[in-house]
Amino acid sequence: MAEAAAHPSVRLSYPVISQALELSASPQLRNMATIGGNIMQRTRCTYFRDVSAACNKREPGSGCAAREGFNRTHAILGTSESCVATHPSDAAVAFAALEASVHLLGPDGARTVPFADFLLRPGSTPNREQALRKGELITAVEIPAHPRPLKSGYLKVRDRQSYEFALTSAAVALHIRGGVIRAAKVAAGGVGTVPWKLPAVERQLIGERPSKALWAEAAERAADGAHPLRHNHFKAELLRRTVERQLRTVGGTK
Ligand code: SF4
Repeated sequence: MAEAAAHPSVRLSYPVISQALELSASPQLRNMATIGGNIMQRTRCTYFRDVSAACNKREPGSGCAAREGFNRTHAILGTSESCVATHPSDAAVAFAALEASVHLLGPDGARTVPFADFLLRPGSTPNREQALRKGELITAVEIPAHPRPLKSGYLKVRDRQSYEFALTSAAVALHIRGGVIRAAKVAAGGVGTVPWKLPAVERQLIGERPSKALWAEAAERAADGAHPLRHNHFKAELLRRTVERQLRTVGGTK
């Protein structure tokens, strides 16, 4: 992770990836950790980590202690009756925004899976988290070539400024030519059971001229379809504000 974050090509072409990586974990962990391991990491739901609690992800069919428990940090998008845990990776949010693909190698050969299909929503089987088949391993994450120039960046909002997971985050990449937004790639973290692509926000932006009003209008769509839990209603508004701020940071305010 540290090497990828510092790589001159990544820094130049996809600052959103460098920033997402550098806002993850600690320098020591980033020196040890791999990209594949980062996107495969499991949820930080405290009930998942507490072996005395009911958890369908850890023990299928046992229930979900978080649904009626303390769920301030849990998901508001992509949840199911069985599980409401967020996916913890920051880099995965950048990969989702940029429409990456995951290269896999296994006993039956090589294959490529779109990033959007690689991490699975919980549904009734939250114990199944990735589209990996038995014996497969990740060999690469590929970012497609996006039109240039591409401005991008990652914003992570959390309870403390280091060594903490996101309450909300936003990965934004914009291709602006002739004063008009020609391409927009936006995804959110900390709010979904998987990194959450925001196509409604992207559609609001394409073909428009950057302005403060446009950022606010597009960000209004960020929490579309959200189902907050008892303790995390704040996340819907925080998500809209996170997306608006990051659109303004990346796209400017003229
Ligand atoms: S939210 Fe998911 S991970 Fe957390 S307790 Fe419920 S089933 Fe387990």
